[in-house]
Order: sequence, then structure tokens, then C-alpha cells
Amino acid sequence: MSLRPRARIHLSNIAANWRRMDALSGEGGAGAVVKADAYGHGIGPVSKALADAGCRTFFVAYGFEGVRVREAVGPDAEIYVFNGLAALDRGDAISCTLRPVLNSTAEIAEWRQLDWGTPFALHVDTGMNRLGVRPRDVGAAAEQLNGKKPSLLMTHFACADDPSSPMTTAQLESLSPALKAFPDVPLSLSNSAGQWLGPEFRQGLTRPGIALYGGGNSVQRPRDLLPGMTLEAPILQVSRINTGEPVGYGATYRAKRPTDVATVAIGYGDGVLRAASNSGFGYIGGVRCPIIGRVSMDLITFDVSAVGPLAKPGAWVELLGAQADLEEQAAAASTLGYELTTGLGPRVERIYEN
Ligand SMILES: *Cc1c(COP(=O)(O)O)cnc(C)c1O
Repeated sequence: MSLRPRARIHLSNIAANWRRMDALSGEGGAGAVVKADAYGHGIGPVSKALADAGCRTFFVAYGFEGVRVREAVGPDAEIYVFNGLAALDRGDAISCTLRPVLNSTAEIAEWRQLDWGTPFALHVDTGMNRLGVRPRDVGAAAEQLNGKKPSLLMTHFACADDPSSPMTTAQLESLSPALKAFPDVPLSLSNSAGQWLGPEFRQGLTRPGIALYGGGNSVQRPRDLLPGMTLEAPILQVSRINTGEPVGYGATYRAKRPTDVATVAIGYGDGVLRAASNSGFGYIGGVRCPIIGRVSMDLITFDVSAVGPLAKPGAWVELLGAQADLEEQAAAASTLGYELTTGLGPRVERIYEN
């Protein structure tokens, strides 16, 4: 027997979530953001499943990620590299027709020298103040490009997860010089949360990421998105401790009554955050069980007193999935679902299910 934590990846759920985001999008449809190993779900199998579902445009952060998408989806899909020329090797760009997202006038100048002949996107920074050509420089960018048209005109919203924020509308307004300088270039505005804000934000090609994997911290997130993965770990040992006895490093938990403690084979060495100590949870046989004590590198302890005989060595605890909601689990560790799935390490076995 060789028990280790496992993530069952539900490719059909991810495809169904994509179809849903695609149907919600305007005529530009939905692309798919598969950077960071498809948010920890596996970039190759996820890209293939999405291409089979009809997705034609993929977004990654790095050229090497784009190479893996190209291998998985074949020659027809469009693949954009968010981090631009610095993240993209010439050989990969040409052999896999990867499209850089150009993020500054300096990068446009470099692009003109390189002359790779692949299409490219132009990113306008309307308020993130992170990457992109600033609106005041859009005229200069158009001059530099001298009639060469981007295949996509992109911006990215800072506060799309908060429908009450005035920032998203302000960002859309500050895109207007770019719309004038680059008429007829297809637009791409919204991530997952932006799509839920309303039709004007769904113009052009949308760029959902987290929604495909069943998460998202927007209050507008539909509650019935399907989980992209079920993260499970096996129980190694169950023991009863007495009132007042401590559990784990630092003895941060003390039993308030006689308690059945299950010690489970997963920890921060696998990507479960230490911040989930005494606050995260799992499910065994449909029963919710709190994490008690500190999350350690290889082990987590749960109070399984309410579970009964199902809590025994070899039984699986669900830490993420249909019962253990990604965003609820993330909130218990003061973070977002993005960090939980992207942080899963190589010790977690990925099992692909259709
Ligand atoms: C990561 C990313 C996305 C996807 O965002 P989600 O919130 O996961 O939907 C979209 N656009 C850009 C520029 C990104 O970096």
C-alpha cells in the first residue's frame, strides 16, 4: 500500500464551467486562463479538455507554459503570453506560434526589432498600475506600430470582484483613447469576476480563470459552479484523547472533552496552508470535521468525534471538493481559492477523471 494525498481532477466539470462562461460571454466568447499549471489542476490535461469543449484561445504567463498548451491542443488554438517578451523564448514563440502580450512602449520597440512574424496582443493598463501601456502613451504606441494591428486589445480590472466599486467603470472609460487609436481590434476585458458584472464588461473575448476551476471570491459568483478538483488525504491513525490534552506543535489546541483525533497524511509540504491551523476543515463520510492543532509539514489533525466508525486508518478526508467548498476553505486560512489550488505541491498525486 502506498497512500499519499491525491487530487482527483474533474475535467468534465472544468469543461462544463467553461461552457457556462462561454455562454455568458458576448459574441467574442470565452478564452481560458491556464497559467500556473491550470491553477494547479494540470495544464496539459486541462487545456486538452477545454479544447475538446470548443475553447480556441488560451492565456498563460510564460512561454514554457504556452509550449505545453500547444502540445496539448494542436496547431489551431491561439495562445497568448501575458508576461510579454521577457517571458518568451524566440524559438518557442516561432515553433509554437505563441503570441506575446506587449506591455509597454519599450516592449513594442523591442518587438519591432525582433520581427518574429507572430500575432501579438496589446495590453493597456487602465488602473492596475502593474503591466501595460498607460492610456497617455497609447498614441505613441500606435505610431510605433505604424499600422501593424494587434490581434487583441486587452485591459485588466483591479476591483472586478467588488460590484459596488466605481473603479471598474472608470477603468473602462479610460480605455477610450485606445479604442480610438486601435479601431476594429478585438477587445478582451474581463476575468471571471468581470464577466459577472454585466454585459458591457463581457464585450469581446473574456478571460476566465478561477471560475473554470469552480472558485472565485466575487459575491456574484454563481454558487453552482462545479469543483475542478477533489483534494483528499488518507487517515493514518485515530486515537482518543482526554479533556485537557494538547494536540500538535506548540500545543495550540487542548481537548475540551474526550476527543477522537484523526491524523491525516497531508500538510504544508503539500500546499495546505499553515494558516489553516485550528481553522480549516475536512469532510469524512459527509460529516464536517474541524482541523485541530497546527498544520505541520506532512500531517494534519482533525476532530473526528462526530464521524463514528467510518473514521479509521485508510479512510479519505476531503479537504476540497463538492463538500469542502474551495472559497470557504480558503477563507478559513484568510486567503482566496487561487492560492490553495496553485499552491498544491508535487507530493499530491493528480488523478484525471472525465
Ligand atoms: C490571471 C488572469 C486572468 C484570470 O483571472 P481569474 O480571476 O482567475 O478569472 C485574466 N486576465 C489576466 C490578465 C490575468 O492575469
